[in-house]
Amino acid sequence: MRIAVKIGTSTLTHPTGRLNIRLTGELCKTLADVKNAGHELILVSSGAIGMGVGKMSLGARPDDMPTKQAMAAVGQCELMYTYDKLFSEYSHTVAQILLTAEDFRNGVRYRNFINTIEKLIELGAIPIVNENDTVATEEVAVGDNDTLGALVATSTKADLLVVLSDIDGLYTADPHKDPAARLIPEVRELSDEILAAAGGSGSSLGTGGMATKLSAAKICMEAGVDMLIVNGQNPAVLYEIAAGKTVGTRFVGRKKA
Ligand code: GLU
Repeated sequence: MRIAVKIGTSTLTHPTGRLNIRLTGELCKTLADVKNAGHELILVSSGAIGMGVGKMSLGARPDDMPTKQAMAAVGQCELMYTYDKLFSEYSHTVAQILLTAEDFRNGVRYRNFINTIEKLIELGAIPIVNENDTVATEEVAVGDNDTLGALVATSTKADLLVVLSDIDGLYTADPHKDPAARLIPEVRELSDEILAAAGGSGSSLGTGGMATKLSAAKICMEAGVDMLIVNGQNPAVLYEIAAGKTVGTRFVGRKKA
């Protein structure tokens, strides 16, 4: 299987912005093992701004664009240094790819991106994609890494996009507020009911940011790619996913007639 995995800042870092050493270590070890078992991996990783904030000891995420972009520049190095170090322990090579929305719209740039990613996979490397935050202002940014994950998974014809979240999947209601909330194991249609469960557009459910995850699911489902939302606090679920099992919530890609 070709598996795209979207990793969020909350999986990689503590609220201080400093690296969550245990979780990131477990995650990279599991991913390395999944790759050793023969699967192709593409990672879409956030964490640049968060790690920049941690490294520069800013204390809180900045609001202004120049500081955010400066923190992304600092943090992207830290992020790739961390992945390089951890994957090297298992003899895997990582490769950094930074994109903006323009790279999906412009034919030449799009082809270059696809050719590079295919070559990296052919050579056995693990491409790690993030938004090029230092140049991505609102007009040219994809904007969030759930959507970026969906664009990368669909354009590289991945079999599956796994979105690691800080919640077990999509629930019928906010599980932090409603004890009767149930996990929805499978979604075949993004019905009004499902959209309502995620809190509608623009708002988020719990801390999971469900609205952007449902936009990502829409892109994947329309392109015939399955997407899973699973809890990133337990990287071992990746073994089950690689074995074809459903964990968390599976959004089933529309099969072409
Ligand atoms: N590209 C941002 C970062 O690396 C994250 C955006 C997102 O998580 O949606 O900090």
